[in-house]
Amino acid sequence: MNLSLRLSETVKEHGSKPAFIFDGTETTYLQLEGAINQFASSLKELGVNKGDHVAIVLGNSPYFVISLYGALRAGATVIPVNPIYTPDEIAYILNNGDVKAAVILDLFLPLFEKMESMLPELEHIITCDTPPTSDKKEIDITKLSIYTKMKRFTKMLSTGNTQFEGPELDEEDVAVILYTSGTTGKPKGAMLTHKNLYSNALDTANYLKMNKEDVIVTVLPMFHVFCLTVALNAPLMNGATLLIVPRFSPDSIFNLVKAYQATVFAGVPTMYNFLLQYDKAQPEDLKSLRMCVSGGASMPVALLKGFEQKFKVILSEGYGLSEASPVTCFNPLDRPRKPGSIGTNIMNVENKVVNELGEELPPNQVGELIVKGPNVMKGYYKMPEETAFTLKNGWLYTGDLARRDEEGYFYIVDRKKDMIIVGGYNVYPREVEEVLYNHEEVVEVAVLGVPDPNFGEAVKCYVVVKNKTVTAEELMEYCQQHLAKYKIPSSIEFLEELPKNTTGKILRRALKDQILQK
Ligand code: AMP
Repeated sequence: MNLSLRLSETVKEHGSKPAFIFDGTETTYLQLEGAINQFASSLKELGVNKGDHVAIVLGNSPYFVISLYGALRAGATVIPVNPIYTPDEIAYILNNGDVKAAVILDLFLPLFEKMESMLPELEHIITCDTPPTSDKKEIDITKLSIYTKMKRFTKMLSTGNTQFEGPELDEEDVAVILYTSGTTGKPKGAMLTHKNLYSNALDTANYLKMNKEDVIVTVLPMFHVFCLTVALNAPLMNGATLLIVPRFSPDSIFNLVKAYQATVFAGVPTMYNFLLQYDKAQPEDLKSLRMCVSGGASMPVALLKGFEQKFKVILSEGYGLSEASPVTCFNPLDRPRKPGSIGTNIMNVENKVVNELGEELPPNQVGELIVKGPNVMKGYYKMPEETAFTLKNGWLYTGDLARRDEEGYFYIVDRKKDMIIVGGYNVYPREVEEVLYNHEEVVEVAVLGVPDPNFGEAVKCYVVVKNKTVTAEELMEYCQQHLAKYKIPSSIEFLEELPKNTTGKILRRALKDQILQK
């Protein structure tokens, strides 16, 4: 089995159903299949063959879905890239990933023109039309030096063959290489096979009971693994409909959910925070949803409870990482969900908490979370040492600290690297953040370790508040009521907002860099 074949099976069963809705227009599974074949056959014409690498540098759009499955059908490996990365970051990924063809918005042509000398291996630049916007400058593309490498996406569709049959694919073939945020050094390309991706999409879909009646809000960025599996592949394998949203805003989410009677929303905690804080939101605004899922970062318990109470909808937290395609745990729908926990093993995937020697720890002891299953990556592209460090005896070492309770529910304590050591005591930033999220004036919080002459490190908090009237002393007092002495912040600073990546994760490290630069 492979992803492309699996989609064709859905098409046979649900051909006339809408595969996705974008900007008010529905595209059926049959239409999608035709476009995928057209794009794949045109790629083949260009000389893109089995095993070649195609980058998709796009935001959420039908172009992304068609390019992804089209490239896979042509036998290529896809490298999704965040379009708002800097030229250096994009060039690094395209070069490291040996990319032969890149799909981009024509808006980015001038940028690619500037990057041309940095991308000697790139043979084809496939351009998609950007909707007319005020910031799109009309340019004469024939004058660009990269003009000879350019192909138009729409032309490739119109001249392609709707009945194209791609090369045979093996489930161990690499389908996607995902460059992970890279907490240290340069980003690493996690190689995910067809089996990794379709098994994780199927297992997640089963766990979340996804079905053909579902309408999923696809607003998480498609270039990120959370969206790719949970809000794109899983629904498409089950005949559900994607509601493709290019950009998150509470207004657009409430409107779209109502207009299309969406049934599932997948988001990161910051999105839930924005939806909950939105002053125009009414409890019935999300009535059609049967479930919301959260992942990508820890969901503060106060936020989870507040959201469920206000909108009367189940909010189930899961956990994953790029290297595991990504999902390893979810809170079950048919057994109790435990707020603060990432839930239990999803089908076919095993999670374990181990000590430094790799030995399993008893319940409630904190250690590193390791993962085994058909979803675990093949390795990092061209990085054997990093691969050997992360994959040991078939287990993926996540770098996250966790504990398991007696009933098999896992709790992420924090990133191993983010742990703060105050005078020999371990402080997990998340624990302090959870306390502050319970304070009614706190909107967002990030906790960092800063150097301290007496204790090695001290706990520092950065907080965004609702009303400027609340003082640092009040928050400090609140912490004193709820935390052991060594965990109490040494200082609290107020900020207008916290730095976040495009997936909405709060970037503690970027915050630290900002502070060091001051
Ligand atoms: P990425 O590879 O970009 O998906 O990032 C994966 C990382 O996100 C994990 O290693 C965790 O540190 C973090 N993460 C994902 N889900 C959760 C969660 N539910 N709770 C806490 N951290 C999470």
